[in-house]
Amino acid sequence: MSKEKILVTSALPYVNGVIHLGHLSGAYLPADIYVRYKRLKDDDIIFICGSDEHGVPITITADKEDVNPQVIIDRYHEINKKAFEQFGMSFDNYSRTSFPIHHETAKEFFLEFYNRGILIEKKTNQFYDEKAKMFLPDRYVEGTCPRCGNEQARSDECENCGSLYDPSELINPKSKITGETPSLRETSHFYFPLGKYQPPLEKYVEEMNKKYGWKDNVLQYCRGWFKEGLKERAITRDLDWGIKVPVDSAAGKVIYVWFEAVLGYISSTKEYSQKKGEPDLWKKYWQDPKTKYIAFIGKDNIVFHTIIFPAILMAWNEAGKEQYCLPQNVPANEFLNFEGKKFSKSRDWGIDVVDFLKLFQPDPLRYTLAANLPEIRDTDFYWKEFQARNNNELADILGNLINRTSTFVHKHFDGKVPARGKTEKIDDKMLKLISEYPSKVSSLFENYRIKEGVLEIMNLARTGNKYFNDSGPWKTVKSDKEKCGTALNICLQAIYTLAELFYPVIPFSSEKLFAMLNAKPVNWSECGKNNLSEGHKLNQAEILFPKIEDEIIEKQIEKLQSTNSEQPASIKADEKISYEDFMKTLLKVAEVIEAERVNKSEKLLKLKVKIGTEEKQVIAGIAKSYLPEEIIGKKVVIVANLKPAKLMGQVSEGMILAAENKEGKLEVLTIPDSVENGTRVK
Ligand SMILES: [Zn+2]
Repeated sequence: MSKEKILVTSALPYVNGVIHLGHLSGAYLPADIYVRYKRLKDDDIIFICGSDEHGVPITITADKEDVNPQVIIDRYHEINKKAFEQFGMSFDNYSRTSFPIHHETAKEFFLEFYNRGILIEKKTNQFYDEKAKMFLPDRYVEGTCPRCGNEQARSDECENCGSLYDPSELINPKSKITGETPSLRETSHFYFPLGKYQPPLEKYVEEMNKKYGWKDNVLQYCRGWFKEGLKERAITRDLDWGIKVPVDSAAGKVIYVWFEAVLGYISSTKEYSQKKGEPDLWKKYWQDPKTKYIAFIGKDNIVFHTIIFPAILMAWNEAGKEQYCLPQNVPANEFLNFEGKKFSKSRDWGIDVVDFLKLFQPDPLRYTLAANLPEIRDTDFYWKEFQARNNNELADILGNLINRTSTFVHKHFDGKVPARGKTEKIDDKMLKLISEYPSKVSSLFENYRIKEGVLEIMNLARTGNKYFNDSGPWKTVKSDKEKCGTALNICLQAIYTLAELFYPVIPFSSEKLFAMLNAKPVNWSECGKNNLSEGHKLNQAEILFPKIEDEIIEKQIEKLQSTNSEQPASIKADEKISYEDFMKTLLKVAEVIEAERVNKSEKLLKLKVKIGTEEKQVIAGIAKSYLPEEIIGKKVVIVANLKPAKLMGQVSEGMILAAENKEGKLEVLTIPDSVENGTRVK
């Protein structure tokens, strides 16, 4: 088979925090397994990623810490890049959208469209926060929907009733940055005419699906967007942080992050080419119609990779010059949850990659995540399952086959591959199975059924153990040494095949296993044939997968339970309580008069609140969302008759009501000044 030319990208992670296990399961691990597998087939493949470093959340974090946004992006870029390396992500290049090479690429696209008259310039009224001195992007304004009364409507769109309206119609708008009432100011923006590209986009999606079989979730999502009708979208913003719009009349504006971030894949490939000393190399991937471009993402990114990015590339290609390749497939994954709930930074729910890899080796994590990828529906990471996958599968199935075979060969055959003598039915069956495995796993990986592929590989190790048991080498070593040698020879062929098939999944262990076999991987298509010849000397085996003790896992679960106890118990949607039950909860208006951080706690603030004339101490888990000075003076709602509890050694005599917003930040419920503190809320 001829070599394929493949370009693989993983979604550029946003550098406003540390990547967690959910991210790995979405856009990264499946891509890495796919790429490593393709490399073993000796295909011409490059794997591209990098940090997405613009956008409002970064400036908000920077403001909060009173540092330049550069400090934030440098910090998280370094952390994430290192975490990816430790996890074994084998990117060929990991770039940054703050690099000049990316700014140039984004400006080049913008100017091309501007000069060709594709972009539409329109005046609009946009909310402006006087206190923050900035125009507010949609998701930083909240108000009451003029159509349905939903109190969490965005500036020009209500997710509850699906209405679109003019920002001037929004009732009681509030800036989510300062809490102030924003004013409407006129500004002008450039729009990309997405609607114009709907017909070719529909054709593209259906054609790609027909040829390459897109995933159902991705298709349904695209069709939903088409059904609603694509509209023009603003591609500029009034902000400081970002890529300056390269047009004189647009001073003070930057290119909106959704337009430029996807172009980061191209810039990252350009950077890779420069590093390689072949500045035009990137064109051989991006502008060759033979390239197979696969974009790995999580489901929250589908629209950007199946509609927006292809539309941008189509618009470029229309001019008839260089022709960019569009994604051939976008195998988006659903979400991975953590112990039954969404990952949440503000609630401290979940674990990030850096913390995880301080405790455990990357391979057991890679295997556990791979065996449970959210390919069709959301899945969960459970600590107990992680332990079980390591102990019962990696150690007891794969590790066991390796150890018992190796021990036997070193003890009775001088550490050399025994000769394969006359084979019997049981041996032939095992050999046939081994030889069929690489193509079996191939057909799953080629169709992005990574999880199934991984579970299949473990089945080969399972069958290998059964074959070892059924052959009983511990008996035949005394009665028929040739027969014993034959069985061990076949077990070693199975182990070799496992080392190669598992290489994309658990590369660190696979490399150790190859070292033990004193061998190297072959081309995937050669694997499963007789890869180890008679008399080949083996090295000593080491324990590849130490068992994970209960104690360590229980510690993690315990930590989780302490987090969990601060969270509301889940209520069944159809469960009703009586008015009397509700009235048992004494909710009162309280004013925060003092606030400070709790020593050694990232989440807790110690508050002193005034309820009428009474003062109480409350320990609130809001330190990741509020600075102490931000909460002082606020009138909040407190559960005033809660049994006192101790948190981090501090007594808490009540609980403050808060809700999590879309960015995972906690928003404390506040009460207007006209209500006196001490008043009961009912
Ligand atoms: Zn509405």
